[in-house]
Amino acid sequence: AHGHNLASTKLQPVRWSDVGGLEDAKEEIMETIQLPMLHPEMFQNGLKRRAGILLYGPPGCGKTLIAKAVATELNVNFISVKGPELINQYVGESERNVRNLFQRARDSAPCIVFFDELDALVPARGAKGDAGGAMDRIVAQLLVEVDGAASAAIDEATGKPKDIFIIGATNRPDLLDPALLRPGRFDRLCYLGLPSTNEEQLFAIRALTRKFHLAEDVNFNAIVEAMDFVYTGADFFALCSDAMMLAVDEVVERVKAKLHEAGENEDDDDDTGDDNVVV
Ligand code: ATP
Repeated sequence: AHGHNLASTKLQPVRWSDVGGLEDAKEEIMETIQLPMLHPEMFQNGLKRRAGILLYGPPGCGKTLIAKAVATELNVNFISVKGPELINQYVGESERNVRNLFQRARDSAPCIVFFDELDALVPARGAKGDAGGAMDRIVAQLLVEVDGAASAAIDEATGKPKDIFIIGATNRPDLLDPALLRPGRFDRLCYLGLPSTNEEQLFAIRALTRKFHLAEDVNFNAIVEAMDFVYTGADFFALCSDAMMLAVDEVVERVKAKLHEAGENEDDDDDTGDDNVVV
């Protein structure tokens, strides 16, 4: 739901501090991705590294956010794609899209490829309604690429591995082709759940509003206590956007009133300089 281009390597930096809570997930993801990146020698004697990690859980709980944060924190390129974007009705085109995507990833290594809505791209093979086995061929192609990413090629110029890591995201891991979850592929699943305690809710809302210009009387504790159901990070984001729009409306009204005053009293100096938007 966040409008990435098919393959965009320009990333708005997302720091760990923009991701509230989810400490276990952060640790698990970094362990999976950072370790082979820092210690490629550990993986040269037959020990296979993981191609990637699969994030799963309900929508709006930070899967995309955390993937971007990993790329920012490790200072690697980030290519983001939604499963359905690669699917094309013409024979062979979808596989070609998958191949092209990974070629791009290799060209911009070290790189994280983020696959959102992975279940749309890699449904269990042999599923009903797969006319002519088109989806099966996409799955097969993706498996080839995932295996290729796990055995990173060495860059001849630098002698360093050309790392590509794949972070997959889905709300429905049960729909994925089981072959994708085999060892060396996405054999590590990481659950990102709802921020269900008040403490986790506070982490999320604090991280989200980190850069906001807040009114002094904002009391997050009171806000969280007053909630009648569990908000996801995305819900908090919507709440903050609403608050911001209200604050903007207020400023507009204030400026209008001042202009009106100035109009009635033309010699007055109109000072609207400190009308910052305060949420
Ligand atoms: P989907 O399954 O719909 O793709 P998602 O799990 O990828 O959902 P995100 O896109 O990462 O969800 O989250 C949506 C927005 O909610 C984020 O851009 C961010 O503003 C906010 N958000 C979610 N979780 C957190 C969190 N733990 N801390 C801070 N902000 C969060």
